[in-house]
Amino acid sequence: MKTANILGVSFHNLTLTEAVDAAMEQIRAGKKGYVVTPNPEIVYLTLDDPVFRDIVNRASLVLPDGIGVIYAARILGETLSGRVPGVDFAGALMYRMSQEGMRLFLLGAKPGVAELAAENLKKKYPGLIIAGTRDGYFKDDQEAIDAVKAAGGADVMFTCLGAPKQEKFMAGHMNELPVTLSLGLGGCLDVFAGTVQRAPDLFIKLGLEWFYRLLKQPSRIGRMMKLPKFMLIVLKTRLFGGKKK
Ligand code: UDP
Repeated sequence: MKTANILGVSFHNLTLTEAVDAAMEQIRAGKKGYVVTPNPEIVYLTLDDPVFRDIVNRASLVLPDGIGVIYAARILGETLSGRVPGVDFAGALMYRMSQEGMRLFLLGAKPGVAELAAENLKKKYPGLIIAGTRDGYFKDDQEAIDAVKAAGGADVMFTCLGAPKQEKFMAGHMNELPVTLSLGLGGCLDVFAGTVQRAPDLFIKLGLEWFYRLLKQPSRIGRMMKLPKFMLIVLKTRLFGGKKK
């Protein structure tokens, strides 16, 4: 698989369809792994956390979520065919899973959200089996692992705990979890539950989804300040080389 190096994170250069094909192949082969969908904020977090960067780079699929990653690729002369937003990847994968009667476990978000998402997803993807759900506010990781075990395991698990918690959880417990492929999907369960709306198409087309989220949740401003910092490091790297702050 061709990769693009963005500040030390190796993204896979795949279209949405190619990424879903690769994921389905891995699930059918029963090969354990996890998928990450870094946006600029996540790439920024890896700069100061080599353990986290290693976890991201060891993923079976590293998909570019966020227009900032695509701009960064252009600036750095790396090839990425386009965004593969986690929420779109998850939707396309669930469609394919539903055709083969595969099992999905939903982990994360506030109590009640995963159950609501499960109801909506069962209606949208008939044939998809929701193996179980568990909210993301457990005190001990073992509680979540036990919930997945009690549900009888799954082909795929959506792990929606926010970064870097979800990536550390997926990598740290991969071998003990009865799941073939885990996907780290941030706030996706809130979207599937309908408790958070995705940006209108126009914002998505213009690459302004991040701006819509900021308008809806102004409290994200602190987190979003990482975006200009990320772009600045990208520009510095382009001009002076290296990948450090
Ligand atoms: N979350 C969780 N457990 C935690 C912290 C966060 O389940 O300990 C959930 C939170 O409720 C939300 C998701 O993780 O549903 C993170 O959403 P965020 O908007 O931060 O993710 P993004 O999509 O921006 O990566």
